Amino acid sequence: MDIDDLAKRVVAGERRALARAITLVESGRADHRANAARLLDAVGATGREALRIGLSGTPGVGKSTFIEAFGMFLIKQGLKVAVLAVDPSSARSGGSILGDKTRMERLSRETSAFIRPSPSQTQLGGVARRSREAVALCEAAGFDVVLIETVGVGQSETMVAGMADLFLLLLAPAGGDELQGVKRGIMEMADLILVNKADGELRDTAQRTRADYSGALRLLRKRPQDPEGFPKALLVSALTQDGLPEAWDAMRELAEWRREQGHWAANRAAQARHWFAEELRAGLIARLERDPKIRAMAERLDARVAAGEMSPTAAAEHLLATLDE
Ligand code: GDP
Repeated sequence: MDIDDLAKRVVAGERRALARAITLVESGRADHRANAARLLDAVGATGREALRIGLSGTPGVGKSTFIEAFGMFLIKQGLKVAVLAVDPSSARSGGSILGDKTRMERLSRETSAFIRPSPSQTQLGGVARRSREAVALCEAAGFDVVLIETVGVGQSETMVAGMADLFLLLLAPAGGDELQGVKRGIMEMADLILVNKADGELRDTAQRTRADYSGALRLLRKRPQDPEGFPKALLVSALTQDGLPEAWDAMRELAEWRREQGHWAANRAAQARHWFAEELRAGLIARLERDPKIRAMAERLDARVAAGEMSPTAAAEHLLATLDE
């Protein structure tokens, strides 16, 4: 495979090359990993930066409808939009496939849009790496906005927030008692809460939900990366497209402020360091697990620990000590 040629074509914005490049970074094969690393280095030199927007919400809240409407809105502003899905549990959530093109039919036909569904896969660490690298590839390919969609299942939000510049939480109109349903940790990650479906009969409920969340956000500790008035809750309707311009204005205001104040660069640097440490950790463990001598020793120790002959700590120490020899 000619990696330099592939890199050139990705940077030139060739969609097929981008799709191939993402397939390459999604592969776990050792020779593919080496090529993927070279590819990422080659495209990284463009220095292009997209606005990376993480988007989370439970199934049925309207994520794909919102992404389709918001994506079309951005394209009409002359922007290029990539959509990636991160689904650590499986390729399916609540019966729908994240990032499925049939759920975003209009957007998927646009030449300024690129949609990539979640790879079917099991390991959280693996998904994180693939998604992060796919984001970098879309960025190098010249997309202005990269939307990273995930479903509200525990760790996946943290992971997506860890590769995004902004993090949006999509909520549905609901009675006040459902506010408890959103975990505090997820609220603390959100830069913007968008209460979707603020249309027709649901509009009044949506307004109350927004007020509830505005109140809840005010109670959270102030973060250094937020200007006055953020994080905030806004009303949108993916169906009627109401509120999309206001939501986009808020995203731009926040992004600009963070750039000016240095938070943007600091956040990207912190993310890069975090992923470097993670890669190193995962790589070291994988390397140890591949070593037949170490594996055999680990199995023996494992049996002794299970039999109560050795404490877990002593067994781990014993194995680690052999690495120093
Ligand atoms: P996802 O599972 O989060 O991707 O949710 P979907 O985008 O598939 O939407 C779930 C359901 O909510 C569908 O029946 C949509 O038509 C509906 N829906 C999505 N957005 C809106 C909205 O803004 N207003 C209304 N009334 N319905 C919506």
